[in-house]
Amino acid sequence: MSFSRIYGAWFALAATLLLLLIGLTSCDKTTGSGGETKVTDPPLVLAPAPNFNADTAYWFVQQQVNFGPRVPNTPAHQQCADFLLASLQRYGLKTHNQAFEVAAYNGTILRSRNLIGAINPNAKKRILLCAHWDSRHVADHDKDSANWQKPILGANDGGSGVGVLLEIARLMAPDSAKLGFGVDFIFFDSEDHGQPEFDRSVNNPDSWCLGSKHWAQNKHVPGYQGFYGILLDMVGAPGAKFYQEGVSLEYAPSIVQKVWNIGHQLGYGAFFIRESTDGIIDDHRYINEMAGIPTIDIVQYHSASGGFHPSWHTQGDNMDVIDRATLKAVGQTVLQTLYNETAPAQPLN
Ligand SMILES: [Zn+2]
Repeated sequence: MSFSRIYGAWFALAATLLLLLIGLTSCDKTTGSGGETKVTDPPLVLAPAPNFNADTAYWFVQQQVNFGPRVPNTPAHQQCADFLLASLQRYGLKTHNQAFEVAAYNGTILRSRNLIGAINPNAKKRILLCAHWDSRHVADHDKDSANWQKPILGANDGGSGVGVLLEIARLMAPDSAKLGFGVDFIFFDSEDHGQPEFDRSVNNPDSWCLGSKHWAQNKHVPGYQGFYGILLDMVGAPGAKFYQEGVSLEYAPSIVQKVWNIGHQLGYGAFFIRESTDGIIDDHRYINEMAGIPTIDIVQYHSASGGFHPSWHTQGDNMDVIDRATLKAVGQTVLQTLYNETAPAQPLN
């Protein structure tokens, strides 16, 4: 009995030493999804940052979905816009309701609203955090053609980005005095009202991202300048992998590296994949091209393995595809990136 206990203790000690040895020899490396080994950058000093609450973010996604599809010109769309604006106001942000009308690919006039909330509205240095809040009017990527004409709930495509940003706004607003910069939360409308896959009567590849294009030409504050921007789109699915998207790498490579490095250092390396993928049409493209603000997109997209999440533009884009772990990984990483602006990050040695 005593022998086995001592033997067991020695065995545990030996096992611990072995694990420590493995840990020490591999601490400067990470293993990527394909099994390849990559050397990481030197660790950054991480400024103290709030703890992102994934339950609250999940609740914000649920609240949006509860309105039903948020398609322009519908009551659900108006009700959700009012809810989002009221949420930003409740946390003390200065809000702008940028109402505009814009023609869709088929000539339908979309009564649209870009919703904006500012922390430290008078600060000169400003960082944009954005997501689209409308949901798609058709499910044109659904396997069942009977669903094509139905609008989608857009829990992931629309709801997830906004949900993460509202939680960040809630956490950052009380710290506004010590930030030393301003943050603008911009929820773009009419991003997802592009020409359906089943409607090729007209050819209009420019029919997406109508809200961000409108904002880029009509800033909510005259002469508005942004330091950089981060767009979130489809950031809620279980096991999501975020590759480094082409437009982001073209216009804002240092922001991509900064965010991915912070994501890895926080332990979210399984989400933030250090591998590039093709550029896509999303709101950040127009913020870069038309507004000239370097902006990245954190989006679940990988050209080499089938594109977006399988629920993309289908009736399956509902709360079943929202996972708190993914909301947490993205939310904590973006939050940390912003708090690191308060104290410039330095290598530890
Ligand atoms: Zn979409």
